[in-house]
Amino acid sequence: MYSIIDRRELAKGNMVSLTVNAPEIARKIRPGQFIVLRINETGERVPLTVAYKNLAHGSITIIFQVVGKSTAMLASLKTGDAIKDLVGPLGCIEHFEKVGTVVGIGGGSGIAVLHHLMEGYAEAGNNLIGIIGARDREMLILEDEMERLCSRLMVTTDDGSYGMHGLVTDAIKKLVEEQVHVDQVMAVGPLIMMRAVCDMTRLYKIPTMVSLNPIMIDATGMCGGCRVTVGSKTRFACVDGPHFDGHSVDFDELMQRNTMYQ
Ligand code: NAD
Repeated sequence: MYSIIDRRELAKGNMVSLTVNAPEIARKIRPGQFIVLRINETGERVPLTVAYKNLAHGSITIIFQVVGKSTAMLASLKTGDAIKDLVGPLGCIEHFEKVGTVVGIGGGSGIAVLHHLMEGYAEAGNNLIGIIGARDREMLILEDEMERLCSRLMVTTDDGSYGMHGLVTDAIKKLVEEQVHVDQVMAVGPLIMMRAVCDMTRLYKIPTMVSLNPIMIDATGMCGGCRVTVGSKTRFACVDGPHFDGHSVDFDELMQRNTMYQ
């Protein structure tokens, strides 16, 4: 059992942050890797990317959006409650290199995943620019944490209630207009956002990585549920990813697969 040592509500309660006592995972996990949890004996397997770890406390923090039965159950847990199973770290270890200026782009709950990845790029000695976007001010998460990592942080809201009025892609346009040199983009968020970012950075020839979260079941490469087409090859996000060259991802197919159960 893995006990919950801290619980917070973010973004009008639509997102929840749970800090869980898991010293072995905290010691091994690298930015961008994920865990799979089962709330109880009969619970479904839920894959979630880790937003941060605390080595001193032996804990990891997951931030998730309440979208269905399992995430609603997870959100109902309180400090002191426990999660039955926690498996991880899962996914490839990302090798962060010093490339120069890295622009990290996060949309909605994807900002939580971006934050951990940006720690990896910071450790490698890169200059970081952050672009984070949400529907409105209240839905924005981790602004202070991103501010601490980035030499510049641009915030967008769809309704203009905070920061720049517009989408994260409008902030990219602004950087390009300012002739800021960008060596690498890392984007995490809704598929439609990652596709729009990739369409734009392809034009500017900026290498772009994306973090994918397709439907995932066993997370060991056995079931094939999370398959994605990357550069016309079939890859499994759980064991070959979850990070891929965004310019090679077949987003249309992935968007169609992700809506299969609807
Ligand atoms: P959202 O719909 O509120 O969008 C967040 C932001 O993305 C918007 O504010 C906007 O700036 C940008 N965006 C949205 N549509 C866009 C478009 N067409 N063009 C350009 N920019 C656009 O996001 P949400 O409701 O918080 O959903 C988050 C999504 O992120 C979920 O679908 C979830 O599955 C996904 N997610 C992915 C990961 C991952 O590892 N890839 C992790 C967490 C969440």
